[in-house]
Amino acid sequence: MSAMTVAVLGRVQGVGFRPFVFKIANKHRIIGTVQNNMDGVKIHIEGMETDLEAFLFDLQENPPRLSIIDDVIIKPAKAVGYKDFSIIPSERAGASMLVLPVDSAVCNDCLKEMNDPANFRFDYPFINCTQCGPRYTIIRDLPYDRTFSSMDTFRMCPDCEKEYKDPLNRRHHAQPIACPNCGPAVTLYSQQGALNGKSALNKTKELIKGGAIVAIKGLGGYHLCCDAANEKAVALLRTKKMRPSRPLAIMAADIKAISEIAALNHSEVSLLKSPEAPIVVLRKKNGYHLHENIAPGMSTIGVMLPYTPLHHLLFKENEIQYLVMTSANPSGLPILYNDENVFDYLDDIADYYLCHDREILHPVDDSVIQVVDNHNDFMRRARGYVPDPIHSRFNVHGIIGFGSQEKSTFALGRNSQIFVGPHIGSLENFETIEHYKRELSNLLNWIQTPYLTAAIDLHPGYAAREILKAYPFAEVIEVQHHHAHMAACIADNELSGEVWAIILDGTGYGEDGNIWGFEILHGNEVEYERMAHLSYTPLPGGEKAIKEPWRNAGAMLMAQWGEEGEALAAELYPSKTTELFILKTMMNKKINSPLAGTCGRLFDAVSAICGLGEVSTYDGEAAIKLSELVEGVMGCDEIYSFEIKEGNGLLSYDFSLMLKRIVHEHLSGKAASEISLKFHETIVQALVQGMEKLKKKSAFATRKIVLSGGSFHNRYLKTRLAAELSDRGFEVYSHKKLPCNDGGLSFGQLIVAAARRGK
Ligand code: ZN
Ligand code: ZN
Ligand code: FE
Repeated sequence: MSAMTVAVLGRVQGVGFRPFVFKIANKHRIIGTVQNNMDGVKIHIEGMETDLEAFLFDLQENPPRLSIIDDVIIKPAKAVGYKDFSIIPSERAGASMLVLPVDSAVCNDCLKEMNDPANFRFDYPFINCTQCGPRYTIIRDLPYDRTFSSMDTFRMCPDCEKEYKDPLNRRHHAQPIACPNCGPAVTLYSQQGALNGKSALNKTKELIKGGAIVAIKGLGGYHLCCDAANEKAVALLRTKKMRPSRPLAIMAADIKAISEIAALNHSEVSLLKSPEAPIVVLRKKNGYHLHENIAPGMSTIGVMLPYTPLHHLLFKENEIQYLVMTSANPSGLPILYNDENVFDYLDDIADYYLCHDREILHPVDDSVIQVVDNHNDFMRRARGYVPDPIHSRFNVHGIIGFGSQEKSTFALGRNSQIFVGPHIGSLENFETIEHYKRELSNLLNWIQTPYLTAAIDLHPGYAAREILKAYPFAEVIEVQHHHAHMAACIADNELSGEVWAIILDGTGYGEDGNIWGFEILHGNEVEYERMAHLSYTPLPGGEKAIKEPWRNAGAMLMAQWGEEGEALAAELYPSKTTELFILKTMMNKKINSPLAGTCGRLFDAVSAICGLGEVSTYDGEAAIKLSELVEGVMGCDEIYSFEIKEGNGLLSYDFSLMLKRIVHEHLSGKAASEISLKFHETIVQALVQGMEKLKKKSAFATRKIVLSGGSFHNRYLKTRLAAELSDRGFEVYSHKKLPCNDGGLSFGQLIVAAARRGK
């Protein structure tokens, strides 16, 4: 008889780990105990040597689907002589790691049962188990328990209860356990009345086939759904939703269906099939046969697999293989999740509503990820990932990062755990701000930390400034936008010490009151020094110049080249002479013309010069259209002329020669794709040259360099820049678990505050 203790670290609490240990202990005739403690799960085992080995093998090779094992530490122990194996109360109950379970896609075991006509959950759209189903979205209060969730209104039937109470059943303590006799049910509403259960589902499929738009209640909110192969239905959805060109996400029946329209690599397949089941942005492949209007002008398409049993049933025995599944929120407003609001808001959009009576308590959007060089590049971190905590080397207790104005999120610290909330959206209207406040107060209520430190952006006008006034914080720490991006990337890679940072994004408030967004910084989580930036030009009209990038292009040319620039702008935009004159006057008189030097605006300007579109109908559209032209290309022999000027110990980039040249090339008929490629490579080479200069003139020893800011979703920029910097001996780091865009800002702010506080 041998004995040992086994500590399992990682995501092992709240994922059915103790019942799993119980089961494999019994399987291998092992006695002892299992319990949760501060770090994870602690196991004491006694048994025959070979049985212990078999137990340890199972423990590491077949853990529960939702668990993530970071480490297993095995130590010899004294035999106690237990009678059996048992689950015992947590060590230091209540003080162990806080577990907020995340929503998970339906598992294969449940799917098998759902498709088995002999099973009492045959075709049941809410089948789930300990390893799958709703979690975060249905929690009312902690600890996570059925009575504190929106399942509390459903009384378990004897069959479900038996499974729920049986420690060897795969639904042991599955809080949302349900069946057709006792659980939630679907209803299809329309002008003609209501249908329930299977007839509701069948009718929905029929309607979609017939070209209808149906609002479907999912896990974290409502989707608008139509047949992705039906050109008319897609066009109608776009018109009704007032979404002219932003790509629509689709849901495909299975991997085979996806492989018919998109190129797939191993990482993308496993991401699609993961319990998190995000939307994965894939490259369309030759033979892509869906209508162009799904993702107009794009070489990529956002695809997900069905992730709820209900979704799977929509595809069952259906010749439709692809459904448009776009969040059912009116433009600019948060995702709809509340049944009452749905009918009001979607009155003009959807004809039919497939609803169910399991209440969504916390709306959450689909997560969106693209895989770049085999790494996850989060574009939106939400369903499936939120609010899984991220471990920090700092004490982050009682710190809240309030995030950005765009793509806003918040981040809460508890001991060494950081909980980043879901993607909320742009805090520019009442509804979204209320949504932010509600979700923040819920998460605060659950994690129960004192209000020690608020970390906020330097920008004086961000909505977060008002929101934080509701809480009695002991201190408020202001964090510069790009420093927060830098700190987020440092922590995302678990780095320490000094680093270089290249931060490229659309907008961030600078220490000098100007708009920054093309920055080379040096420093750490506590402080930074600005080493290089893009020279400023006025942005007359502010927001308007962002929505209509030709204004931005015209303004840049006039600011950089005076009368020559005016002539060029007039030649580019002959129908806009009046507007150009107004822009010039605004700049001269300094009326609503903030100074800006950002990567996003530079890309916008080049896009507008190349005539890629007059208006951006969604955030970053102009820049995305420009980058689309270089998809699949890497490297270019030619670059444009530019200057790197030096003054006050700061480098400043001047791309005015490049812009003028681009105008001439465009006017003389050079293809936009050639201009775009040469432009992209110019930016890469300019940054590399800047880094070489800085390395030479500064005494800084580090070779580590972090890349952050929303512009790094641009595959060319990220991949080429990383390659060139690596060639020159830099160690290059980009984001792994958080978005490089402003969705990661709250996390970075929190890190800066923790580092400053810990000094
Ligand atoms: Zn399951
Ligand atoms: Zn039941
Ligand atoms: Fe930013």
